[in-house]
Amino acid sequence: MKAVVIGGGIAGLLAARVLTESCDDVVVLERDELSDEPEYRAGVPQGRHVHGLLVRGGEIMEGLFPGLYDELVQAGAHLMDAGEMRILNPLGWVASTRTGLPLLVASRPLLETHLRRRVTAKIVDGVHVTGLSFRGSTVDGVRTRDGRIDADLVVDASGRSSKLPAWLADAGITVPEPVVVDSRTGYATRLYTAPPEVPVVVAESLAAPHHPRGGIVMRVEGDQLMVTAQGAGGDHPPRDPEGFQRFLDSLRGPIAEMLADAEPVTPVYLFARTASRRNAFEQTPGWPGGLVAVGDAVCVFNPVYGQGMTVAAMAALLFRRHKDFSAKGCRTFQRKVAKTAKGAWALSSSADQGWAGGQHAPGPVERVFGWYLKKWQTALVHDQDVFRRFLRVVHLVDSPAALLNPVVFRRLAKYSRPSPRRERRRAGSNPR
Ligand SMILES: Cc1cc2nc3c(=O)[nH]c(=O)nc-3n(C[C@H](O)[C@H](O)[C@H](O)COP(=O)(O)OP(=O)(O)OC[C@H]3O[C@@H](n4cnc5c(N)ncnc54)[C@H](O)[C@@H]3O)c2cc1C
Repeated sequence: MKAVVIGGGIAGLLAARVLTESCDDVVVLERDELSDEPEYRAGVPQGRHVHGLLVRGGEIMEGLFPGLYDELVQAGAHLMDAGEMRILNPLGWVASTRTGLPLLVASRPLLETHLRRRVTAKIVDGVHVTGLSFRGSTVDGVRTRDGRIDADLVVDASGRSSKLPAWLADAGITVPEPVVVDSRTGYATRLYTAPPEVPVVVAESLAAPHHPRGGIVMRVEGDQLMVTAQGAGGDHPPRDPEGFQRFLDSLRGPIAEMLADAEPVTPVYLFARTASRRNAFEQTPGWPGGLVAVGDAVCVFNPVYGQGMTVAAMAALLFRRHKDFSAKGCRTFQRKVAKTAKGAWALSSSADQGWAGGQHAPGPVERVFGWYLKKWQTALVHDQDVFRRFLRVVHLVDSPAALLNPVVFRRLAKYSRPSPRRERRRAGSNPR
């Protein structure tokens, strides 16, 4: 069987890795020209911004490519305990603790380059896929700018700019309108030289409705600091260096202070198309055989929660067991893909309801999680056990259901959240 994967990003590389276990021939088609060394590239503009790899995603990647962590650390990445990340939430510093959960801290280009080196599938760069080719109601290949390539299975892993709904529409297949939750978050990122005393990761989290601003400082390879400013609810950090600095100065935590002796080494890069978007491919009438989709092409998450690469990794594993790529089998596959994204979607979309302003009516699960997340913010500052349990869920190691248990409820009940007025006062003390 020959599989053609559209897109050589994280989802495409991981899907290709698993498909090589069962297919005779796996070809990844990537529109960008690829370099052997880590570099920022046009097809992945988000690669310039902080990319946190959740623990679950890291574990899957290390499982698929044994020794990957060591290789990346040798190349300048960091490996730390996830509980030792320093996080300032709206109510104070989170109670850091050891969890035994390994957290790999690397830039997106470094991670992707190492995955690419390890994948044994054939990667063909500089090939822009422009559509699907059909034999009857089955996909039998892709069309490219230069011709056509045969395939028994086409995997769309072309990311957030995927044209799959339009390609299917050309064949008379209508994909349901996607569900969108938009927190109107903007990203701005700049690289600096790293003063030696700065910790590996420091994050100031944003939270609806009174804390629209946050930021992350992350040590990346080459002894540099990647500094990402995040602004939700339309309160975006700007591109000009002075405005960017003012935005960092306005944060409550020490990010601006930590950069006092750091020299900027790049301009400021922006990214603002951050809405969460979920395509219900599994509900598409007439979905063809020979075609599946994974990664951002199916479901894009607000990047603030760092879920995209991990959900892509979870979907890639599905190729291990699933072998039926008839029309019915492909729909079943998409149902499984939707299931892998469910927990991550519940966490991020419920937390974003506070910004989304009713664009999408929250379901009961999202409402419960929204309420629960607020309780959690308070408990996190005081309680290492709650923090440990929560980390396992936000890193997608445990399902969100793990938080809905009586032990956690009893512990959370001990902590009441400050009144909205007091919280607003704290937010107001944030110098702008
Ligand atoms: C600002 C920002 C920050 C983020 N931070 C995080 C984070 O902290 N943690 C995390 O896990 N995720 C993060 N993400 C999400 C993450 O980038 C993706 O979820 C993840 O990379 C999986 O995406 P993918 O492989 O499906 O798509 P991508 O990584 O976007 O790759 C798609 C690939 O397909 C190629 N391609 C597209 N169209 C075609 C075509 N027609 N023909 C051939 N090739 C094509 C592109 O060039 C690209 O290489 C962030 C996203 C953004 C926007």
